Amino acid sequence: MIVTIINTLLKTLGGILMGIVDSIKNKVSPVTESKVDPDTIEIQPLAERKTVDIIVDRQIRTKYQQGWINKIRKNDITELVLHSTAGGLSAEGLLKWILSGERSKEYYKGIALFHYLIDRDEPHIVEVIDPSYWVYHSSSGTHDKETIGIEMLNPSKTNRAPVTENQYTLLFNLIFKHLLPTYPTIKSIVSHDHNMQFYSKLTPKGCPGSGFDWTRLEKELTKNNIKFNRKGVGDYEVT
Ligand SMILES: [Zn+2]
Repeated sequence: MIVTIINTLLKTLGGILMGIVDSIKNKVSPVTESKVDPDTIEIQPLAERKTVDIIVDRQIRTKYQQGWINKIRKNDITELVLHSTAGGLSAEGLLKWILSGERSKEYYKGIALFHYLIDRDEPHIVEVIDPSYWVYHSSSGTHDKETIGIEMLNPSKTNRAPVTENQYTLLFNLIFKHLLPTYPTIKSIVSHDHNMQFYSKLTPKGCPGSGFDWTRLEKELTKNNIKFNRKGVGDYEVT
């Protein structure tokens, strides 16, 4: 009899403790965590996937590993942010400059790194940081947990040099053949300027700047049968 009572008491206590542990867990894990149940993930047939050539750079991520290694994504990717580099003549030159470490203090903290680089005249799309990890690139704080940053090489310090035909082709291949099909949770395409203003109340610095023609993006969205809502300059909701 006493043993039964003790057992019942222990079970009740255990239940209460588990309840407390669960409620702590719920508080610790952010509510915005991905809702996708891993058990429901299915392999998309390879024949349905489109081919995009992406060069994976390993030097930058290796050197600045401490900046991104602890930023594995737990949130869905919901946004693409477009940037221009405000300097540099080629993707290779820019990678060399990043590696040279002029801004290494920031890179080691995961600031000013980005996921993709679009070369100016060569057919190069370079993956700099694996999009499975997030980094700070759009002056929007932890909102960048949900974003992918794409840099277009622009030799002008003020990003005024017009984006080249080669860059539009590469950028649209990356967005429409790779990123949107791979991450169906993406629901907006914005400028760095937009996020600077919206999240940090900062004055826009011209990123991606006047060299980028947003109507080209609109045409491409239409061509790909993607409905969009232009909410402002460099601020598009896509569905
Ligand atoms: Zn930018």
